[in-house]
Amino acid sequence: MSTLPLAEVKRQAFLKNLEDGFLAIDSSSYSNIACPRQAFLAYVLKLVPAGGRSPLVFGHMLHEVLEWMLKNGSVDKITPQQFNEKVKEVIAQEGHKLNECFDDRRNTETFSSLCSAYYFNVKASGERMKPITLNGELLVEKSFSLPLGEIDIINANGNHQTITVLWEGKMDLIGEDSHTGDLAVWDHKTTSMLGPKFLDDKMRGPQFNGYLWAGQQMTKSLDRPLNTVGINAICSKKTGVEFSIMKFKRPQPIIEEWRVSTLKVLENLMRAILPSVFSNTLPLGDFNHCCPKFGKCVFFQVCEAPEASRLNYLNEPSLYQVSNWSALGEEV
Ligand code: SF4
Repeated sequence: MSTLPLAEVKRQAFLKNLEDGFLAIDSSSYSNIACPRQAFLAYVLKLVPAGGRSPLVFGHMLHEVLEWMLKNGSVDKITPQQFNEKVKEVIAQEGHKLNECFDDRRNTETFSSLCSAYYFNVKASGERMKPITLNGELLVEKSFSLPLGEIDIINANGNHQTITVLWEGKMDLIGEDSHTGDLAVWDHKTTSMLGPKFLDDKMRGPQFNGYLWAGQQMTKSLDRPLNTVGINAICSKKTGVEFSIMKFKRPQPIIEEWRVSTLKVLENLMRAILPSVFSNTLPLGDFNHCCPKFGKCVFFQVCEAPEASRLNYLNEPSLYQVSNWSALGEEV
């Protein structure tokens, strides 16, 4: 496999990081790794399906509004008129991307009405999330890139090499719960279903264990326990919208176990995919994960194709594109 011209830039960037002794990963990339081949295509080469980005764009626009709201004193300080102006501003800047997706459920109209319903819901119930300030900085939409630990890889020369794993991401906020006073990492989650399964999924997943671990590193100087997650759930269903604050705690041994286990998983994964990354060939897939409960792996059609035509699929811009998304919130 020698011709993935656009994605080759990403492969070189990945190899340069390894040469410099680190591997950067975020919870979204980590939890989406279904098999070694998928890891190579999606995590190393950053290939994503073309089109169908409405959930991402919708979520991004909503985060912009909520970030502005929390940085400016929320409903205590922001009038409905000011809020509406902000929503209009975000639509003027980003709404065209949403409307280009032709998604009935996610367009500028549904965005505007969801934002309005959210504002008045918070106005009626009071703002639960009170972001804290650390070293003069309000911890809203806070990026992090922190050393999680070290792993041992076999490098391009066939030698063992110790590299540092950087755990990266961007937290919606670290702040107090105005009802209980406890410190929590908070996350705005747009969803179409709530309930116990929604929470179970979040508790065990890498996102919140990783956020708590990172939040603890960032707030060490405060000397306050940080083991609580708060989810600001924004549920949009066919029947209407529902807002809910959901909270859970993670015991410290579980957070540490998550850290150790994540390093081990990454070490094994790197041993499985690095020979293919160095030689720019597709690693073997693992057929157990091609059809998870919801939807298919985004590379299903590639793996179904005869080996000789797989590159043609991956090089077809109407099927796959190279993503410039960054967990740190920057286009790269
Ligand atoms: S379709 Fe299956 S084998 Fe192919 S990348 Fe996806 S999970 Fe792996």
